[in-house]
Amino acid sequence: MMSSKFSKLSRRQMIQLAAAGIAAPTTLALTGCSTTGRKGAGEVVVIGGGFGGAAAAKYLKRYNPELNVTLIEPQKEYITCPGSNWVIGGFHEMKQITHNYNASRRNGVNVVHEFVDSVDPAKQTIKLASGKTLSYDRLVMSPGIDFKWDVHEGVDSNTEKHLPHAYKAGDQTLLLRDQLQSMKQGGTFAMVAPPNPFRCPPGPYERVGTVAHYLKQNNPTAKILILDQKNAFSKQGLFQEGWRNHYGQMIEWVASQDGGKVHSLDVKNKTINADYGKVKADVINYIPPQKAGKLAFATGLTNESGYCPVNQQTFESTIHKNIHVIGDACIAGPMPKSGHSATSQARTCAANIVLAMAGREPISAKNVNTCYSLVTPDYAISVAAIYDFQDGKIVSVEGAGGVSPMGATPDVRKMEAIYTQGWYNSIADEVWG
Ligand SMILES: Cc1cc2nc3c(=O)[nH]c(=O)nc-3n(C[C@H](O)[C@H](O)[C@H](O)COP(=O)(O)OP(=O)(O)OC[C@H]3O[C@@H](n4cnc5c(N)ncnc54)[C@H](O)[C@@H]3O)c2cc1C
Repeated sequence: MMSSKFSKLSRRQMIQLAAAGIAAPTTLALTGCSTTGRKGAGEVVVIGGGFGGAAAAKYLKRYNPELNVTLIEPQKEYITCPGSNWVIGGFHEMKQITHNYNASRRNGVNVVHEFVDSVDPAKQTIKLASGKTLSYDRLVMSPGIDFKWDVHEGVDSNTEKHLPHAYKAGDQTLLLRDQLQSMKQGGTFAMVAPPNPFRCPPGPYERVGTVAHYLKQNNPTAKILILDQKNAFSKQGLFQEGWRNHYGQMIEWVASQDGGKVHSLDVKNKTINADYGKVKADVINYIPPQKAGKLAFATGLTNESGYCPVNQQTFESTIHKNIHVIGDACIAGPMPKSGHSATSQARTCAANIVLAMAGREPISAKNVNTCYSLVTPDYAISVAAIYDFQDGKIVSVEGAGGVSPMGATPDVRKMEAIYTQGWYNSIADEVWG
């Protein structure tokens, strides 16, 4: 049932295709795979138009233009978390981190702005909030994260209205920025940083830098206290070096074992009860512990970790056949939960779906992640890694990637700040362009 165009592609070409993920003109034509009655095409539905989902839809269509690809995302505009810390710090605008789905449509993806109520993995159907039902041959789910509101006493899902987490970009970003800007002179900004695993391991610490940048100019006697639910964090030495150099004594980080462990919060009185003692703050950025997005739970795709186990070669769920989970919601070995990881997984997953629907063997693509973080608008640090698939799981490739050097000159840090914006522009263009 495969077209001659497809069968001419060698295994080597396929590996290159997925590893590069950007072999733009290459397509994999195939026919006759649909279980949904549409002759000559397969039906692939993608739920979630964030980094993982929007990229998966694009690459599915690119790798096989004959596929019917439907992307379901309730929001007409997607606001990225990358760059949202820059908005909180007051040196970036929301419009610079807001994207739409016009390019997805131009790329041939059928975009549906609706909320998915439920998925029936046995019948391979999806029920939308409007009551409509869609069928799929393969489903890609990239629903992002949800918050655990039951870990600390005194909080619930309403807490975010008063103590913004700003860990889903949008209104939360603006609420935290506004609270920061209204903070009294000499006040305290307290952050409760989440335990592992969570979205964007350097995210809270980049935020500390951008908040400090704002305070240094507008409220120089204010303090930032980080009560961490862990004992170490991503790029820790580099962040702390940057904080010392730029913000002196403004920032205090308290590891879980040294008093950071939080027990309860009094939302009304903006007070945190931690091993450290009772902390009364003017602004509290409570970033709750995290788990996979709600729909992943409702579909029965999660395990006891709160995330979705997948075949780490194809990202197909190990629980439900023909459903692939990518991005923050999936368990992808050492890959951090980041927009870059989600986009890389989207390419690998799309290539393997196209192959599977043509009855071909899966390929083991290399995945990649880079995380840039600003400490000031002109000072950035980064971490990069390449991942391979070996012995049934994703592993880091030794010697590939690395982190920025400690003690680098201001010129090096400034170049990295320029690369940070370049990284943002190119990934946003890849996913929504
Ligand atoms: C402050 C901060 C800074 C960050 N900085 C970086 C960075 O510099 N670099 C980087 O790589 N990553 C960064 N990240 C991480 C990045 O934002 C996430 O890892 C990324 O968004 C994950 O993509 P995803 O597709 O898994 O989920 P998301 O991007 O969250 O997308 C999920 C989508 O699914 C949709 N959805 C959910 N449920 C349903 C449903 N039932 N029906 C239909 N649609 C649904 C949602 O509306 C959403 O649009 C940062 C995160 C934060 C919080």
